[in-house]
Amino acid sequence: MHKLLARQLAHLDLEIVDLLPQLQELLKTVDAAYHQSDHDRHLMEHSLECTSRELVTQNQRLQFELEGRKASEIALRQSEERYQLAVEGSNVGIWDWDIITGEVYFSPAVLKILGRVDYAGFNTTESWLKYVVQEDQQGLRQAIRTHLLGKTSHLEFEYQIRRHNGELRWVVTRGLALRDQSDHAYRLAGSLEDITDRKRAEDQIRFDAIHDTLTGLPNRALLLDRIQHQLENIQRHPHKRFAVLFLDIDRFKLINDSFGHMAGDQLLIEISKRLKACIKGSDTLARLGGDEFVILLEEIAGESGATQVAERLLQDLKQPFVLEGHEIYASSSIGIVLNHDHHHKADDLLRDADTAMYRAKTEGKDCYKVFDSRMHEHAASRLHLEAGLRKAFEAGEFEIYYQPYFGLGRERLAGFEALIRWLHPEKGLQLPGEFLGVAEEIGLIAELDRWALKQVCQQLVEWNSNFPQDEPLRVNINISPRLFDQHDLPVYLGELLQETGLEPSLLQLEITESCLILESNNRAITQLFQLKSLGVQLYLDDFGTGYASLSYLHRLPFDGLKIDRSFISNISNSSRDESFVQVIFDLAESLDLRPIAEGIETLEQLENVRNLANCYGQGFLLARPMSRAAASSFIADYKPGVLTKKAS
Ligand code: C2E
Ligand code: MG
Ligand code: MG
Repeated sequence: MHKLLARQLAHLDLEIVDLLPQLQELLKTVDAAYHQSDHDRHLMEHSLECTSRELVTQNQRLQFELEGRKASEIALRQSEERYQLAVEGSNVGIWDWDIITGEVYFSPAVLKILGRVDYAGFNTTESWLKYVVQEDQQGLRQAIRTHLLGKTSHLEFEYQIRRHNGELRWVVTRGLALRDQSDHAYRLAGSLEDITDRKRAEDQIRFDAIHDTLTGLPNRALLLDRIQHQLENIQRHPHKRFAVLFLDIDRFKLINDSFGHMAGDQLLIEISKRLKACIKGSDTLARLGGDEFVILLEEIAGESGATQVAERLLQDLKQPFVLEGHEIYASSSIGIVLNHDHHHKADDLLRDADTAMYRAKTEGKDCYKVFDSRMHEHAASRLHLEAGLRKAFEAGEFEIYYQPYFGLGRERLAGFEALIRWLHPEKGLQLPGEFLGVAEEIGLIAELDRWALKQVCQQLVEWNSNFPQDEPLRVNINISPRLFDQHDLPVYLGELLQETGLEPSLLQLEITESCLILESNNRAITQLFQLKSLGVQLYLDDFGTGYASLSYLHRLPFDGLKIDRSFISNISNSSRDESFVQVIFDLAESLDLRPIAEGIETLEQLENVRNLANCYGQGFLLARPMSRAAASSFIADYKPGVLTKKAS
């Protein structure tokens, strides 16, 4: 058994030995296979890793793209909303015209602009054109045509439409054509915007540039343009004539100061309406500013045509204006010029009309003057005067003259009126009428009057100390209304009285009646009372020549009045004037006002005045204005009773 087993084992051994190489081979193969698969696995693993990495990257990119898309979708939606809001908010309508089919899409905003409620039948260019005003249809068609032909980069046209309810509106159409390869437009789309408000604002700006804001009348620029136009017209029609009328409202500053600027403005508006009613629609009424108006009369029949209009203007202004319950009388000085060969520019006519107006002013106001070439010289000398006056004041060329006045009853020298004179180095002695108007215009009058006040106060102190009398001498001095423009006259005078030691009641301030529109000039009235409280006396000058109401006479603190020369000179020949002067004397007595009769030139006048009242008198018969030195001698030599000698 053992042997069998042993043999079998040996055999088996042999078999194993035989098998061993195979086994080894097998093992080798297995081993090789093993190594091979390991390599493959590595490769696979590597490729897998690459792929997955790529996938991650791709995924991230997609994610990123997705987010990008989402963001742009939101942005797009927002932008659409914004666009919609903008379009709706700005009232801009959208339209889109398919040129091939002829159909037009209009957005609801277009309907709104038109005031339409529905779309029925509203989808063609013709249905749109029906709203366009006749005058603009041609223009709009033309603008579209040129754009479709490619001659303009885009379509833009402003025009007027008539809305459903008939209302006119301004719109602007903008658009752009889409073109095929052969450059033929097949679609035109764009917007429609209501620009009425902008147009109105533009019109307003354009209007304001050439009109006066207060009255709405043409201003200087527009007036000059129209005059220039007339000048050009005359070149073609030399026989035609036109005229320029320059109007300046008399004493407007006084009205302004008395009633305030608001009332002044109101008056200018009312005046402009009246003037406008006097001229033809084809003529131009312009306001140059302040109280200056100019009328351009186109086509007139010579000078008389222009003067007739001027007369009508003066007449119409005579009706009182009612402002804040007050009746105001306005008048105007008018300068007229007719076109002439020497007028080359519009300014030339305006200058000549202004010169003529100035002449009308100096010749009494409330009248017209037609320009003639001699006025040129006058205007030039006036300019010269303006420049000369200031220099003269600085050079001390002014002097105060003194005209005595007397108590006619007791025949005594009562005092003097101080009257300014200009001792011109070449022209000699100049009277106030030659220069005071200009001094007032250039604002020199206040300085002149202050200077005069100082001279007079010092002089009066000197005279009363050198020539003591029972009743000390007084001096009357004229005060321009301009002095009330500032507030400090009472202060100035108060200091002056203190400085000179003058007894205030000896100084008598003369205020002209024309200034008494003052009645409602609070600034002036306050100052009158302040002056009064300084102790100085107040006189109303040129009484009877103004047209202010009598009520101020007893409401304002006057001490006396001066009866104007025009009444005194006539009392001998006119019983009417005599009665009038008698009434003034009675009035003065009842109001306790001392009267001074001005301008006594003849013995007869003196007698007449004396017969009417026991008053003061002043005039060339009694004594002329004289220099300071002459007045001093006059006082020294004066003997009471001199009037009786003259009268007998
Ligand atoms: P007024 O205040 O009425 O002065 C009287 C004017 O009449 C003076 O003229 C005087 O010379 C003149 N006169 C006096 N008696 C007679 C007469 O019998 N016959 C004639 N024909 N005239 C007579 P004047 O000096 O030329 O002054 C004119 C005006 O100038 C004055 O009128 C006054 O309103 C103003 N004025 C004069 N001096 C001043 C001044 O210093 N300041 C101001 N603001 N105005 C003044
Ligand atoms: Mg006077
Ligand atoms: Mg007078």
